[in-house]
Amino acid sequence: MEDLIILNNLRKVYRMGDEKIIALNDINLSIKRKEFLCLLGTSGSGKSTLLNLMAGLEKPTRGEIFIDKLPVHKMNEREVTRFRQKYVGFVFQSFNLIPTLSALENVALGLTFQRIPKSKREKMAKKILTEVGLGNRLHHKPSELSGGQQQRVSIARAFVGKPKIVFADEPTGNLDSKTTMEIMDLITGMARESDQTLVIVTHDIEISVYAHRIVYLRDGNIEKIEENQNIKGEAI
Ligand code: ADP
Ligand code: MG
Repeated sequence: MEDLIILNNLRKVYRMGDEKIIALNDINLSIKRKEFLCLLGTSGSGKSTLLNLMAGLEKPTRGEIFIDKLPVHKMNEREVTRFRQKYVGFVFQSFNLIPTLSALENVALGLTFQRIPKSKREKMAKKILTEVGLGNRLHHKPSELSGGQQQRVSIARAFVGKPKIVFADEPTGNLDSKTTMEIMDLITGMARESDQTLVIVTHDIEISVYAHRIVYLRDGNIEKIEENQNIKGEAI
């Protein structure tokens, strides 16, 4: 399988007054099409920074990011916005749903930037919400849903446009352990069905059973990479 994501000498430094914070030191990594990769590390090790750089949400201080051969590190605002719409779905720990919108509207919003008519958007949103088990919660607002249900809505939003890559930053960080496994089964099942690449950030070793490879981050560096011999799911 070919490399979909290539990271060369990636570095990210934040400046806070006089202080320099090296969030990522020098990251080199390739991720294959259809791979499920887990980024594991303690708090502050650089996991979110790395994910945000790959998703085009932040710019590296130095280094290169190629996705599907496109140089993400060189893109201007307009190009990076278009790249994100086409390639990236994102699942957040805190769900990031819009509180005033229903589940259906939140998911349909994920499609507004693609030239799809409203009625079709709603149809697609309804279909995927049914797939994630929320067919009877379409008109509920986020506050009227449990944490696990809210995360299902945000997963539906991330997947509805069939992006090539889904990034998830501690997607189960706010959930209990039973819901965690249900949500992980859901995310990996949907990604497998549509041949998507999945990069999941976590500090929970339990979650790594779903990944083909586990990348351990420590102080902005890759400490080691493990191949998962006993993956829960299919090999690529
Ligand atoms: P993780 O997700 O592994 O907990 P992060 O990538 O969020 O780690 O952060 C890595 C390091 O960079 C931490 O020391 C953090 O404090 C710092 N950092 C992250 N974002 C910023 C920012 N916007 N400004 C300054 N420092 C930041
Ligand atoms: Mg983080």
